[in-house]
Amino acid sequence: MATPTLAPQRATPAEVRVPVRRTRLFALPEMRWAAAASALFLVGLAAQLAGAPAWSWWVLYLACYAAGGWEPGLAGLQALREKTLDVDLLMVVAAIGAAGIGQITDGALLIVIFATSGALEALATARTEDSVRGLLDLAPETATRVGSDGDEDTVAVADLEVGDVLLVRPGERIAADATVIGGGSEVDQATITGEPLPVDKTTGDEVFAGTLNGTGTLRIRVDRRAQDSVVARIAALVDQAAGTKARTQLFIEKVEQRYSLGMVAVTIAVFVIPLLAGDSVQRALLRAMTFMIVASPCAVVLATMPPLLAAIANAGRHGVLAKSAVVMEQLGSVDRVVFDKTGTLTRGTPELAEIHSVETAFTDAEILRLAAAVEHPSEHPLAAAVVRAARARDLELPAVDEFTAHPGKGVSALVHGQRVGVGSPASLTAAGLEVVAGPVAQLRARGYTAVVVTRDSRPIGVLGISDQLRAEAEAAVAAVARVTGSPVLLTGDNAATAERLAQQVGITDVRAELLPEGKVEAVRALQADGARIAMVGDGINDAPALATSDVGIAMGGAGSDLTLQTADAVVVRDDLTTVPAVIALSRRTRRVVIANLTIAATFIGILVLWDLFGTLPLPLGVAGHEGSTVIVGLNGLRLLREAAWKRAVRTGR
Ligand code: ADP
Ligand code: MG
Repeated sequence: MATPTLAPQRATPAEVRVPVRRTRLFALPEMRWAAAASALFLVGLAAQLAGAPAWSWWVLYLACYAAGGWEPGLAGLQALREKTLDVDLLMVVAAIGAAGIGQITDGALLIVIFATSGALEALATARTEDSVRGLLDLAPETATRVGSDGDEDTVAVADLEVGDVLLVRPGERIAADATVIGGGSEVDQATITGEPLPVDKTTGDEVFAGTLNGTGTLRIRVDRRAQDSVVARIAALVDQAAGTKARTQLFIEKVEQRYSLGMVAVTIAVFVIPLLAGDSVQRALLRAMTFMIVASPCAVVLATMPPLLAAIANAGRHGVLAKSAVVMEQLGSVDRVVFDKTGTLTRGTPELAEIHSVETAFTDAEILRLAAAVEHPSEHPLAAAVVRAARARDLELPAVDEFTAHPGKGVSALVHGQRVGVGSPASLTAAGLEVVAGPVAQLRARGYTAVVVTRDSRPIGVLGISDQLRAEAEAAVAAVARVTGSPVLLTGDNAATAERLAQQVGITDVRAELLPEGKVEAVRALQADGARIAMVGDGINDAPALATSDVGIAMGGAGSDLTLQTADAVVVRDDLTTVPAVIALSRRTRRVVIANLTIAATFIGILVLWDLFGTLPLPLGVAGHEGSTVIVGLNGLRLLREAAWKRAVRTGR
């Protein structure tokens, strides 16, 4: 059987509604050919039973052969030219062989069942594809652009440029990642953030492509071109996942080749040996054809990919994108989950709570102004908090030069020719540390993250930044504990703050004050104990650890581009509870794959033995072979159902 893969293609967002667009039954050519073959078979059978002249039903049956067999036959011949033996071809050869010994009714039945199960498979694949692509049908194709003269015209979203001004009417989907420059409305961002409640948007707020405008009208200025938008990045990830194959599948395909060749050799033996022993050509050929059909590994080939693709689609619908079938397969073997703190367990939109000056020459406002100027280019969640606080106080930020980020430590830059740094107290010299020890300890005791502002390496102030836990963090940790055992917390932040937070969510294994390499070492240490690690992180400082872990999972909303690229899977809506759920779903997928392989092997074993040592009627062989193929195919598709996800969330199994 042809291995179902999701052909990489661009989404065509014909309609912008999240519910999945379903491929209709007869939209698939495979379905139409199978229907034609079935109809020809039935008419042929009627003619045969009614006693019509033999040539008439032979013609009908041969037409049935052509309708149902031309496509797999042609594909099989093409594969043969590339020196691979396609099982489909063997089926067609078997049917032709059956006709050759006068068993054309059996042969035509084989073609019909074969074409029908092929069509069902194609339909299943298309439906799986639909549900993956349903994720992408979010952004509209056109937008209303307002020209400098105030004229409105409709333009393709692909042609939008940064800086274009768009008008978003009530109930419309927003066409681009943009900033609101006029009007006000509430926007439903569930597709991107998972937040069920609409968010109020007024001038200065950010809006995202694919989110749904409420009752107001907005004027927005485009910030990102269509291909760079958040939904487009998600789409790119899905496309990437589409063209991949799981390890089990690659293994099966390798074995399949040898198996098929061996099968052809045995088929010849099954034909020749009885012939030499004096059997009739008729009987020997029939037995050989039956053998070829029942020994074909169609069900084995179908055992792996449909369940994995169904699981990828289901998880994708619920906000976790596995970037490949390999990842979906590996998630199930994870036995330890590691969480980063800031931006992962916490919301990553921290607030500046306090400013302590430690140098009388600097007022609170001056400290904040310098800190915000230096933080401005940084993508770190703490940086965003500092910049937001400065904006809220209407501080004018000076321009900076020579900005450098020190991942896991902080940032620095030149302001008016002097080096200003913002970062962790741990990066200070002993003398500097002494100056800030008081306020730092105070802030930490209250659960704040303390960040020191320095000028020319001397501390001038300490900022207390509070970060809120994600609402679902505790539930997610509990669910992870049920599925894989209790998780580990890795953070670059100080031990006191980390311990406090760990206690709140129920984590006991905390490793704090880690630089990016420290996180890598921590992951390696866990792996050295024999654990297979899934690491969940958001920042650039997590990227090396994500790459080191067996499965790296990035937070999609908060995550930096580098992190999204490094990760194997992305939590699109930043809902942490999807992490244990997708691990549970992957384990279930593995069980389904094993069940499928068992079903396939059992059917093949029984039918082959029956044919070799007894007399297996050809139609029964065909029915058993195709039946097991269909059972295996449908079994995999169960993972596409909503219930499969719910069960993974609820029971962790
Ligand atoms: P986590 O591992 O919890 O996500 P990070 O490794 O990103 O935290 O950061 C570790 C520490 O480094 C922070 O707690 C902070 O003290 C400091 N730090 C890193 N980047 C910055 C920045 N841009 N501004 C201020 N402090 C920073
Ligand atoms: Mg982080």
